[in-house]
Amino acid sequence: MVDYNLDENLKNWQSKVAEFARIELKPNAQEWDRLNGIDPSNPFPFDTLRKASKEGIRTLTVPKEMGGEGLGIFDHVVLLEELVAGEAGFGAVIHQGWKLAKMLCEHTTEEQRKEFLPRFMDVDTSTMAIGMTEPDHGTDNIRPASNIDGGMKLSAVQNGNNWVLNGKKHFIACAAMSNINFLCARTDSNVPVNEGVTLFIMPDELDGFTRGVVHGKMGCRLLMNGEMIYEDAEVPDEWRLSEVNDGLPYMSRVFSRHSPTTATFGLGIARAAYEDAIDYAKVRVQGGSPIIEHDEIRQRIADMYISISAARDAIWKAAWHADNASEGEYDHKEGMRVKIFTGDMAPQVCSSAMNIFGGNGYMTTHSAERHMRDAMMCYHIDGLNDTGRWKLGRLIAGEKFAGSI
Ligand SMILES: Cc1cc2nc3c(=O)[nH]c(=O)nc-3n(C[C@H](O)[C@H](O)[C@H](O)COP(=O)(O)OP(=O)(O)OC[C@H]3O[C@@H](n4cnc5c(N)ncnc54)[C@H](O)[C@@H]3O)c2cc1C
Repeated sequence: MVDYNLDENLKNWQSKVAEFARIELKPNAQEWDRLNGIDPSNPFPFDTLRKASKEGIRTLTVPKEMGGEGLGIFDHVVLLEELVAGEAGFGAVIHQGWKLAKMLCEHTTEEQRKEFLPRFMDVDTSTMAIGMTEPDHGTDNIRPASNIDGGMKLSAVQNGNNWVLNGKKHFIACAAMSNINFLCARTDSNVPVNEGVTLFIMPDELDGFTRGVVHGKMGCRLLMNGEMIYEDAEVPDEWRLSEVNDGLPYMSRVFSRHSPTTATFGLGIARAAYEDAIDYAKVRVQGGSPIIEHDEIRQRIADMYISISAARDAIWKAAWHADNASEGEYDHKEGMRVKIFTGDMAPQVCSSAMNIFGGNGYMTTHSAERHMRDAMMCYHIDGLNDTGRWKLGRLIAGEKFAGSI
């Protein structure tokens, strides 16, 4: 039976998270964006993260018996929409923790959880990062290259019970501040990347590990993407998550149902642009009346509403499917179609919002241009939409692909 009614618990969380976004995120969004635009390494608003921790928001997807609320993918998309509509970069940081907490809690050994879970649960500023992309290797990890030269090169070489790490990741979300890092490393360079990568977990205090530059970004600036540099850094075999050389298939298994959560960025950003445009249209007077009374503006708002509602309907369906389908029934096309759809939809809705703001839509004094910049991220995260289309096309054609996420 399909049921998209929100139960009482989720409704309560939805109003709590929406209130948090309204009070703590939205009023600060413009200024955070401006400051990180001037200096990408401008400190993350940790006080706000502490408040999110205190409210229980940061750790919502951690299972109840481990101290969280055990929320699933449907809950994740409903609540993430509220955070992203408040401030997209902050929402992305929380999302990253929600998503990686699943891996930490459900796909690790008891010893690994003992070592790393308290770092997430007990440190109220804890964030997590996952490093795949390198300066010379991006898409060829996600659409894994079939020749041995393709794919990541950061190496892990076994030395007794330890693995010695050397190389550099870049573009990594939360790299500037995470206290837990998941790292993909090449453990066999004589086979294609999908057969030669191993996944590790490690703390940020690690001899031989340094954080490199924080990248200046167009939008979603609080995500603080940066470099992670490893120079003869050693980690014990106990911190290896996947079987040796099974890192990318392991991640594929862990994250295969998560695309609806990524799709929610486009939804939340488009909704913020739409709501701000309506507020503006109610007070901006042209031709003797508020512009919301002009038919062209109403048509634009109607089209924006249709796009946003269609995206939400599709995401909820895909999320419900992700939570409920059995292994044999699960259809990967569901998550992929909504990630691509919302990545295309969000910039269109934001462009309409910019139009409603007139000249102010292009000025940094108003939110419309920020939403547009934030929306452009949706093409890029978890692999480009072009890569997603390639994967979706292959699935529709009945072919399988080896892919990490
Ligand atoms: C906001 C943001 C957050 C990110 N967060 C993370 C993170 O947390 N962790 C992480 O590891 N990475 C992260 N990334 C990196 C992201 O996954 C990569 O940018 C993405 O995989 C693309 O890789 P690339 O940038 O090297 O582009 P490239 O691989 O160089 O691609 C360039 C162009 O070539 C095309 N192309 C590439 N290969 C092929 C092919 N075989 N056939 C046809 N066309 C092809 C692509 O579609 C694209 O149009 C993030 C990126 C952004 C923008």
